[in-house]
Amino acid sequence: MATLIETRCKSFINRLNENLFTIRTYSIRLSGNPYGGCAWDCSYCYAPFVYRFTSGVSPKDFGRVIFARVNAPEVLERELDRGLSRGRLQREYLDLGTVTDAYQPAEARHGITRRCLEVFLRYEFPVTVLTKSTLVLRDLDLWKALADKGLGVVGFTLTRPTTVPAHVKNLLEPYSPGTAKLLDALRTVVEAGVPTFAFVDPVVPFLTAELESVRQLLAEIAATGNRKVFFGVMKLSPLTWSLFRRRLEAQSPELPPRFEELYIRQGVKEFGRSWVPPYEYREALYRLARDTCQALGIGFSCEGNFFHLWLDDWAEVEDPYRHPSGYNLWEMVRARQGEPVALAEVQERIAARFPVVSDSYFSAMGTLWERGQLFEEVRGIEFWREDGHCGYLFDGESIRPAEESLPALAA
Ligand code: SF4
Repeated sequence: MATLIETRCKSFINRLNENLFTIRTYSIRLSGNPYGGCAWDCSYCYAPFVYRFTSGVSPKDFGRVIFARVNAPEVLERELDRGLSRGRLQREYLDLGTVTDAYQPAEARHGITRRCLEVFLRYEFPVTVLTKSTLVLRDLDLWKALADKGLGVVGFTLTRPTTVPAHVKNLLEPYSPGTAKLLDALRTVVEAGVPTFAFVDPVVPFLTAELESVRQLLAEIAATGNRKVFFGVMKLSPLTWSLFRRRLEAQSPELPPRFEELYIRQGVKEFGRSWVPPYEYREALYRLARDTCQALGIGFSCEGNFFHLWLDDWAEVEDPYRHPSGYNLWEMVRARQGEPVALAEVQERIAARFPVVSDSYFSAMGTLWERGQLFEEVRGIEFWREDGHCGYLFDGESIRPAEESLPALAA
């Protein structure tokens, strides 16, 4: 049982800095968190890292001590009012709950998320949420009103099919609702006409990243009518690994050495932050998921440098209030099919297609481009520099399927 502490925040809207990580990974820059901590207490959660700085409480208490930011709607309203009237803020998507679940159990009592949505609607400001809770259905009237104006998107985190054994759920996501309930909720939101996506992240090696498990989950998601899937394998920062490992040792003591081997010895550290399994493992896993989505007739996108596997660019979901994703940039180079592409051309296309992009985005992106870092480690794109000029070109030959799937993916 979590302890709930009411607290007051001084500011609500956060903005990500422009750097290689954000430019390649995110298409949304704004976030706001109505709560600190999260009672779902997923064992793989990365958010305790942030929690220790914002709450002053040990990351071990992330799932047990929840802070309800009771004045968040008033602070949000003040920030939107001042930001929009003074031109310091423009309408672009805000992600509600990036280091918490805005619909965790405390929301049933406090209604902070609901009151924030009323503010977003009043100011006609675009908002999106990612949740593991059916409580989002309580606010379907507001999500529908936002969606009717092209301002609202609802995502559900769905990481395992309905058939996964109870001990796996208890290990990974002990307190959040089961998959069947979340699929029903997703179907209801789809039928209400609100844009949705399924966030199939993380799938976890040795537990849910298995062939049949992945195929079944994607089929169950497609059956709800949802057309968009984002897919990703579990990442392990040093802190996440230490917390996850503790639970593994208690419930499945044979697994820690296998994770250590796959992540720390064979794997790589992405953007210098978190370990992920080796490229070939992820390529095989994502290709399996992509092929399954293709057969089901739904869109597919994924984490990491695997832009060659994406089946859509989410444009329908989030334009015109989002930044380009790494895929959008990759696609602009690919479209030239081996002809070199220069920075000015790409920036011109970004400005035309993504009106929310700021000067700081162009500045950071231009620096990364000219240093040859923008597509570093991305297969299919080559950097060239000659006579003081530089650019990128598409090299389809360098994209090859992994020769074989790793044993963990075998049927
Ligand atoms: S629902 Fe999200 S924020 Fe909450 S514990 Fe799970 S992963 Fe962390």
